[in-house]
Amino acid sequence: MKVLFAPDLAKRKASELLLLPFWEGVTPAAQWSGLKLSPPVDFSGKAGEVCLHYPEKGLDEPRIACIGLGKKGAASDEQIRRAYAEAVKLALTKKIQKITVVPAIGFIAPVIEAVLLANYAFVVRKEAPPLLEEIQWIGVEPAQFQPIYTLIQGVHFARDLTNGNADDVNPRMLADTAKELLKQNRHLKGKVLDKKQIEAEGMGLFLAVNRASALDPFLIEVSYFGNPKSKEHIVLVGKGITYDTGGLSIKTTEGMSTMKADMAAAATVLATVKVAAELGLKVNITALAPVTENVIGSKSYKPGDVYRSMSGKTVEIFSTDAEGRLILADALTYAQKYLKPTCLIDLATLVGGTVIALGDDFSALYATEKKLAAALLAAADQTGERVWEMPLVEEYSEALKSDIADLRNSGWKEASSIRAALFLKEFVDTVPWAHLDIAGPAFLPKPKYYNPTKGTGYGVRLLVSFLQSRARA
Ligand code: ZN
Ligand code: ZN
Repeated sequence: MKVLFAPDLAKRKASELLLLPFWEGVTPAAQWSGLKLSPPVDFSGKAGEVCLHYPEKGLDEPRIACIGLGKKGAASDEQIRRAYAEAVKLALTKKIQKITVVPAIGFIAPVIEAVLLANYAFVVRKEAPPLLEEIQWIGVEPAQFQPIYTLIQGVHFARDLTNGNADDVNPRMLADTAKELLKQNRHLKGKVLDKKQIEAEGMGLFLAVNRASALDPFLIEVSYFGNPKSKEHIVLVGKGITYDTGGLSIKTTEGMSTMKADMAAAATVLATVKVAAELGLKVNITALAPVTENVIGSKSYKPGDVYRSMSGKTVEIFSTDAEGRLILADALTYAQKYLKPTCLIDLATLVGGTVIALGDDFSALYATEKKLAAALLAAADQTGERVWEMPLVEEYSEALKSDIADLRNSGWKEASSIRAALFLKEFVDTVPWAHLDIAGPAFLPKPKYYNPTKGTGYGVRLLVSFLQSRARA
């Protein structure tokens, strides 16, 4: 993609479409008097309204996308993002490839984010639909554009991994992707544990989930120490089930149809550490991702059997489909044993009940520390990657009890999202910990706002914003 910058409208190069913002309730022509416009009378400037206008003369571009921003003074960053995304989506349906973007005053960053986020498609057709190939920015400095471009490239990196076929984006491919990141950026350090090393660590839950797979599991660890003088170390753990059949507790056809995305959280934490290093954030972080398939075979782990975790706690398996919490439990133990985290955050496409409760606009947040929850909620507010804090109701832990083992992994209908979080909490000691269940927003059945259908890369912008706030603190 080619990127051009012009200091103002007078110095622009003509393109195929001019994206022009309008506030609601102000005469459209008066807002861009220099352009001698006469936008259609039925355009009101309401937030999210987009209207293609074909001026007869006096303009270098054949068309304008009039973008409604809502009332001046009342617009949020997210409202602006969604409005510009609508214009980009309209341009793509018209196969327009060269656009000029005039950002709304005071909203340059959200406009850049929205345009870049909306300019994405993962389509496996004979003829791929064209994306924008040239974007000209009016009144934007290259130095302002570059870090946002780096961030959104990270989101696209996570989207691509989530959208790829499960046979391609398998545990080894994710391990190789991590090794490639280590090669590309000398500021990244890390390693990949293979099956033998995972066995040596005694990660019995992780290995149980992997048992039926013909493919070996890996534990991916990628670190970036951007502030070596600080003792703070944020460890991000991402669930990496590259395909979830449910195991012997097999899923329905419908339930299985989205399960190539059960590694979305692993993609998000890898993308986050990549972006943090590329932006040179002054933080110390590690992305940790246990990756394996959860499939069916003669070696499948079995409901009713008991497995020993790396922590020593034993778990009675009620459902082999509740496998995410098993691999995360061992990864959380590993993180605390070897990485000395001062803050531990895990992400997972974990529980269907979370999506029933919150839909696909929100992830569910559980946290053991108010300050940490507040920082993540603030990042959600900043980025539009929405988060809803849910309670860790200690009394509900009763249901986690097993007659024969320390815990059982599921088997309750009510509060399934909360109980999954409580299960994970059993494997966390005193370190401040947060759990984000991203099952809703990570993978969409159809395009929404600036997100394409399927993989969204949810969480990358949220976590990077959270890290930026930590770097400032
Ligand atoms: Zn499952
Ligand atoms: Zn799963």
